Amino acid sequence: MLRGSCLCRAVRYEVAGAIHDVHHCHCSMCRKSHGAAFSTFARLTAGDFRIVAGEDQVRRYRSSAPIERTFCTTCGARLTVRFDGMPDAVWVSLATFDDDPGVRPDVHMFVASKAPWVEISDGLPQFAEYGPMGG
Ligand SMILES: [Zn+2]
Ligand SMILES: [Zn+2]
Repeated sequence: MLRGSCLCRAVRYEVAGAIHDVHHCHCSMCRKSHGAAFSTFARLTAGDFRIVAGEDQVRRYRSSAPIERTFCTTCGARLTVRFDGMPDAVWVSLATFDDDPGVRPDVHMFVASKAPWVEISDGLPQFAEYGPMGG
């Protein structure tokens, strides 16, 4: 069981199952949403993710028609992303985990949209847009 929470800790969640993969996303929506050079998301089976406190603090926002992002209304921490086309999956912002998830990022995606001031200096595979499915 892995635990996570938002910055103000009003919203807390638990992850019961395996993390399938982890990616860094450099798309412009992630950059703006996270206020960061890129987002880092872990893909889980939707049923393995459970909010255990602060559900009423979670705001949902559609950054594009099929994509719903959630965040804490008090502190603004980004929590999850879901795609309408993949209802069995949920992507959780790895930076909000309180425990070491034990996994490490696999790929960089949407590198074609990356901020010009970001230099990728690790050896992970880079994809112009989406990586291998889920990655
Ligand atoms: Zn919060
Ligand atoms: Zn993105």
